[in-house]
Amino acid sequence: MQQIQTQPEQETLPIVGTEIFSWSKWDACTHCGLCLPTCPTYRELGLETDSPRGRLYLMGASFRDNNPIPINEDWEKFIYRCLDCRACETACPSGVHFGELVEEARAIYELNTERPAEHRFWRRLVFKELLPHTDRLDFIFELMWLYQRLGIRWLVQKLGILKLMGRLGEMESLLPAIPDPSLKYTIREFTPAKGEAKYRVGFISGCVMNQVFTETNLATIRVLSENGCDVITPHQQTCCGALHVHNGVRDTAIELARNNIDVFAAEDVDVIIINAAGCGATLKEYEALMEHDPVYAEKAKTFSSKMRDISEFLAEIEMKPPEGEIHRRVTYDEPCHLVHGQQIQFQPRKVLQSIPGLELIELQESEWCCGGAGIYNITQPEMSREILARKMKHIGDTDAEIIATGNPGCVLQIQVGVKEQGLPMKVMHPIDLLDCAYRKVDPLE
Ligand code: SF4
Ligand code: SF4
Repeated sequence: MQQIQTQPEQETLPIVGTEIFSWSKWDACTHCGLCLPTCPTYRELGLETDSPRGRLYLMGASFRDNNPIPINEDWEKFIYRCLDCRACETACPSGVHFGELVEEARAIYELNTERPAEHRFWRRLVFKELLPHTDRLDFIFELMWLYQRLGIRWLVQKLGILKLMGRLGEMESLLPAIPDPSLKYTIREFTPAKGEAKYRVGFISGCVMNQVFTETNLATIRVLSENGCDVITPHQQTCCGALHVHNGVRDTAIELARNNIDVFAAEDVDVIIINAAGCGATLKEYEALMEHDPVYAEKAKTFSSKMRDISEFLAEIEMKPPEGEIHRRVTYDEPCHLVHGQQIQFQPRKVLQSIPGLELIELQESEWCCGGAGIYNITQPEMSREILARKMKHIGDTDAEIIATGNPGCVLQIQVGVKEQGLPMKVMHPIDLLDCAYRKVDPLE
């Protein structure tokens, strides 16, 4: 293991907030190391401190053993270099809930340290001032749409201004094409089932998802309606708080969870549907997030028990088989928070295989992280690129025309890889393909 200096001579302050740490889950680790080969950061760096077992050791040593390892910048580096991809959970024979533990560890870190002023500014802006406020997100994304639509982006790129903007310029290059903002206002609070209504379902439209992938949200609602669902999309819902939980901003995540629990409880729906894997995993774990909240603990349990990924729901019901044929070669990339976070593996493949004419090509290491991991590609750009390169090599080998993946962060990350490598491939959500099959349109035309 790479040595982290213990500093006995230095006065160590008591760590606050450790009461949220799930010691019973941490204690389940037997240090067997079976998770190590599945960890992308360990595979890249070969350091125990960048492995699940090493990270668990760091958490325990700092939170329990009288703080012999201070939670300083080194500690932050190893804990935040984790993708929170949860591949280690799937591999672990002892059932260690690594995702929950690393998320709690980050929240404790944020309570006990002060980040540099620039970090504090960006974190406050993104996690507190933007993501929880739909009206502000609407405004920002409308500006971005104008920036792209009016040719300003083209001009900025032509004049080489992005290169002068350093990190901000690099982030701009990750920006996808923003759809016409008016589209999202076509999503109604109530969309009736086509034919007989068999289910009353709630739909979580997401924060960034609804701004960038409005078409996929509309496709999801059409598919649900096609399958006998009355779809309720309450406009009072907010961001689910997944990015907050992953980045240690637990107080805001809890506020967002309370709002969403109340909003959907008022609608009395049978199930609640999400089409973004990262958000789905967090929504299913509201129960754990709220376990110390005397008012919301039980309500969160009910909420989480109703959550379904769209592919999971379609596999549970008798899905209407699509009639439209799609004669395209498609490969499927598994979002970490679907395959590892929710153990959903066959359901998206079942959706794709239900489409007549579609050729499904298995992707090697489909269950490996693409390096997108929420905002990891912004906070850890070098590691993110190395992990993406591995994914793109396998994608290139498939010779597919379409890459299907069920999470907005993965779509964006793989789109960057496709663009950089000049591959003739389109990245889509599996539900976009099913919707095309119902509507009898070719997804590439
Ligand atoms: S969540 Fe992913 S990156 Fe983090 S320790 Fe586990 S396998 Fe490694
Ligand atoms: S997390 Fe699980 S697989 Fe990894 S060392 Fe601990 S017990 Fe073994």
